[in-house]
Amino acid sequence: MHNPAFLQGVIDSNPDAIVVLDSQNHVLICNQNYRNLWETPGTPIESLTNEARWALQLSQLSESDKDKFPVVFGQERAQRHHIFRLKTGSWYERHIYDHVINGKHVGLVIHWRDITEVQEANRAATYERELMHALMDSIPDQIFFKDSESRFLRINQSLAKRYGIDDPSLAVGKTDADFYTPEHGAKTAADERQIMETGEPLVGVLDREVWPDGSMTWNVSTKMPLYNSEGKLIGTYGIAHDITEHKKTEQLIWHQANFDALTGLPNRRLLRDRWDQALRARHRSGLDLGLLLLDLDHFKEINDSLGHAMGDNLLVQASQRIRNCLRATDSVARLGGDEFAIILTDLHSAEVASDIARKIVAALNQSFHLGSEVAYVSGSIGITLSPQDGEDIDVLLKHADQAMYQTKSRGRNGYSFFTLELQTRSQTRQRLISDLRRALPEGQLHLVYQPIVELATGRVDKAEALLRWTHPQLGPVSPSVFIPLAESNGFIVEIGEWVFRQAAAQLQAWRRTLSPQMQVSINKSPLQFQNLHASPRKWLQHLESMGLPGSAMVVEITESLLLDHSDQVQQQLAQMRETGIQVSLDDFGTGYSALSYLQRYDIDFLKIDQSFVRGLHAGSRNLALCKAIIQLSREMGMQVVAEGIETQAQCDLLTAGGCDFGQGYLFAKPLLPADFEAFARARSRA
Ligand code: C2E
Ligand code: MG
Ligand code: MG
Repeated sequence: MHNPAFLQGVIDSNPDAIVVLDSQNHVLICNQNYRNLWETPGTPIESLTNEARWALQLSQLSESDKDKFPVVFGQERAQRHHIFRLKTGSWYERHIYDHVINGKHVGLVIHWRDITEVQEANRAATYERELMHALMDSIPDQIFFKDSESRFLRINQSLAKRYGIDDPSLAVGKTDADFYTPEHGAKTAADERQIMETGEPLVGVLDREVWPDGSMTWNVSTKMPLYNSEGKLIGTYGIAHDITEHKKTEQLIWHQANFDALTGLPNRRLLRDRWDQALRARHRSGLDLGLLLLDLDHFKEINDSLGHAMGDNLLVQASQRIRNCLRATDSVARLGGDEFAIILTDLHSAEVASDIARKIVAALNQSFHLGSEVAYVSGSIGITLSPQDGEDIDVLLKHADQAMYQTKSRGRNGYSFFTLELQTRSQTRQRLISDLRRALPEGQLHLVYQPIVELATGRVDKAEALLRWTHPQLGPVSPSVFIPLAESNGFIVEIGEWVFRQAAAQLQAWRRTLSPQMQVSINKSPLQFQNLHASPRKWLQHLESMGLPGSAMVVEITESLLLDHSDQVQQQLAQMRETGIQVSLDDFGTGYSALSYLQRYDIDFLKIDQSFVRGLHAGSRNLALCKAIIQLSREMGMQVVAEGIETQAQCDLLTAGGCDFGQGYLFAKPLLPADFEAFARARSRA
């Protein structure tokens, strides 16, 4: 047995605080660390009574740890090891050992070990881990850790939710192939293998994920190599961000920017891209390209008569028909309104382009069923070839436009190739437009008058005023050339006003010198009806200021005007009636006539178009048509003027058919005022 000093020495050298209790819990011996552990008021701790010692100790333990403190002697305790926190903030681990001598419990040996450092480190680690988990599970992005075989080690809540599982731990051991399609699973596994092989992360990878139900999502992910604490590469981990919504909006915006909403066809912008692609492909293939421009003929009339919804319906159907005529590599775009552009690739010859154009024209000629209505349109196409006619899409579109214009002037419903001659013609057109600007101020315009003869009596007290332009270099230019030009840039409004005043002055003179019943017709362009300056009320004021009644003047309009439902046009047509100015429907039978409109607008005269008069002979269809028109007019209280009478036979047939008036070379060409006077005087003498 060693002496107590020896024993004291042993326990004092121990870093723990040690106390040895007897069976009555009295302190037998304790070390210096034990004394230091408890703050005592003066009396050494081992000298206190049990109760005082316990009270002292309890007072120095943190509140929550107090119930762990009591020690029951001699009883086997399940838990002989506790951790306490002291009020000082230090942490102690208490171990209780039975003190047994010769198999008999004689007391307890209690160790208190300062574990403050370990404990703080643990707590910091736990805190970090909790933060990590809170972050992982609250973040809307998807986080995963995988082993070297691409099996999940851990996923976060967000990814679990995407996989349709409540508990993220259910994913452990599975792979992407268990959630996506096998193909997608194989792709991600390959990416991860690459990371495992190179140790390099994959940053900002855009992935289209395909799910077993066929749906698709998009994400951007960053995947990194996962190392364990020994620095060994054990797998991968990554974070992915779902950008499906973003992608959808992006696609929608792209779609809206590049496609026509009505027909779903590419728009002008996408056409440019496609053209660039086609050009690049051409440089490889060496085969020609075609750029076609197509315009639907008379579409505006359908829109006006059947309404915009039907017009839209027709455009959709027409675009499908066009598409059906093309090969897989060709494309068609809607440029706006009723205008389409078509890119043809790999043209082995120009015939391929004309074959396709012919097919399109034929397809458009088929009837269109629009609800309960059946409508007909045709298409006019202009064809350009690249590289012959150019490579620049703007140049080609301009050339195609010239070729299309050519088709229109040839009677529409067909196609024309661009030619150099067309280009010169178009340049002439541009020059004429700029020259036309000076025509009025420089006095290059004048009116001629064509007699309108009463067929039954031969009397002439009507005339149509027709405009003439004598170009300083080119000489006379036909109105069928310059009127459309004047309309194309609005000059017609000013010119039309001049025509009206000029004709009114002539009328005033002739009412005095020729006949008080004299009536003059002037042609009024639809464009003038859009403009309020040319309103019938103003015209009436002018006529009255000259002492003329409204009824002295006749305004010739075209059928298409009646289909225009715009306010200005409607207003002007109504005013026409109010002012007494008479209305004549010019070129009747050439447009898209809706007979109901004739009644609605109180038309005074119908002018049968020259094309019907030209082929007139006994028993002809044209004669039947003319008679029908005359019959109809009579019943509706209108009078009929036949235009373009060139032969006596035509005149006789029309007279016999009951036509009221005739106009044409048979009687006289359009005449200068002096010649007209001479003609009218000779007639009235006869
Ligand atoms: P329009 O109003 O139908 O005029 C009749 C056209 O037929 C005139 O052509 C006239 O010269 C021509 N014509 C008359 N009799 C015969 C004939 O027996 N045989 C043939 N082959 N032709 C005949 P023009 O003067 O060349 O005028 C062409 C068109 O230009 C006119 O057709 C009219 O739409 C337009 N126009 C003429 N003057 C004016 C005007 O002052 N203002 C507007 N807006 N348009 C005008
Ligand atoms: Mg006319
Ligand atoms: Mg006419």
